[in-house]
Amino acid sequence: MSTCTEERARIPDALLARELRAPRYTSYPTALAFKPDFPISDYVNAARLSARCVEPLSLYLHVPFCASNCFYCGCNRIVSRNPDRIAHYVEALIEEIRLKAALIGPARRVEQIHFGGGTPNSLVPSQFGDLLSQLGKRLKLAPADQLELSMEADPRMATPTDVAQWRRLGFNRLSFGVQDIDDQVQLAINRVQSAAQVSLLTEAAREVGFASLNYDLVYGLPKQTLKGFDRTLDFVVDQRPDRVAVFHYAHLPQLFAAQRAIDAATLPALETRLALRNLAHARLTACGYRAIGLDHYALPDDALAQAQGRQALHRNFQGYTTMSGRDVLGFGVSAISQLGRTFSQNERDLAAYLAAVAHHRLPIARGYRQTAEDALRADVIESVMCKGAVDYAEIGQRHAVDAAALFAEERLCLRELDPEQRWLHADERGIAIEADGRHLLRLVAMTFDRHTPRPPA
Ligand code: SF4
Repeated sequence: MSTCTEERARIPDALLARELRAPRYTSYPTALAFKPDFPISDYVNAARLSARCVEPLSLYLHVPFCASNCFYCGCNRIVSRNPDRIAHYVEALIEEIRLKAALIGPARRVEQIHFGGGTPNSLVPSQFGDLLSQLGKRLKLAPADQLELSMEADPRMATPTDVAQWRRLGFNRLSFGVQDIDDQVQLAINRVQSAAQVSLLTEAAREVGFASLNYDLVYGLPKQTLKGFDRTLDFVVDQRPDRVAVFHYAHLPQLFAAQRAIDAATLPALETRLALRNLAHARLTACGYRAIGLDHYALPDDALAQAQGRQALHRNFQGYTTMSGRDVLGFGVSAISQLGRTFSQNERDLAAYLAAVAHHRLPIARGYRQTAEDALRADVIESVMCKGAVDYAEIGQRHAVDAAALFAEERLCLRELDPEQRWLHADERGIAIEADGRHLLRLVAMTFDRHTPRPPA
């Protein structure tokens, strides 16, 4: 692995800046290509076909409620603590589980269930219990020791007692949004949480036997400095979670209303953002974490690091995963499902979602059915994002095409990205990205994307 200093010396800032604006490729095509005229019958057919598939299935449940409004947020979420509203939503989720499970049936084994948000821990433990029991009744869940059951939790809304209750319900993976522990940054993003609280919950999670703990960090936030972020990293390496995700904050106030509360003048300049990212990389790898794909880090004995070692890392809507099956069944407002080559996304508006489910209708609002060419490109993009390499012969064989010949044009574009082949090697056999080109994976992947307009140079 090359050092960060080498990376800065070899890769022009202009390329790194372009990369920060590229999609994260949790699917191909990305959700921006989904179409509102997607026929529900396509979903129904995909679900029925999927019932015969032997690959394991993942489930995603979206909980949109949050206690307050973090200014950097780009998620689909609703600021509300109203227990009646939350209870009503849980009932709707149960109805959606009934509708979707009736199509797939109990043949496919579910090996992964993830609660995301919003803030999943807006739900009380009994509500998680109700949802899990409905899922268990209607789908075939793997036995507890083989089921990955995870939740993104807001530390501000959790106590050690909650953590113990989640564990008793079967949760075995937990992710805490830490972002940055610096006071000034926390005030600027309207998310004040003490390091002591995160530490208390981390200890509680370890005591009750959570198998894996993740911290999310964000760089590029207002008022963020190298010195302050270094203190955050001191805290992280001291707590030693199994995984750390280091995400870039994309300031898009025209798209996300909450971000309009951020004074753009307080955002770190590009040079500082890149330095923050490099600092995280240097500190985490120096402390024994392995760099995983684009923006994750994991301790060597964590399943993600081991999967990367076996070249068995995959990508789904939640990011990097060890699950080989791509199919995900999404529940809740804005949740995305992938069944075979069919993507579908639920209504993004809560009222529209609740109305559809109240009328026992699938709450699907948009979707997309991959063509054979999309599936081929998706395979290449996943290989770039997960392995940092592409073998055209292997991929061509899977799709019964001559991939090297098909991607002649892309090869020329890749040469333009790195004419001197310092970090990117692209020829008719495939692609190899050196370790210090890791932060450009999305830009390489984007070369194969026929749906997303290129970010300006
Ligand atoms: S960042 Fe997370 S907790 Fe904050 S508003 Fe967004 S979804 Fe809610």
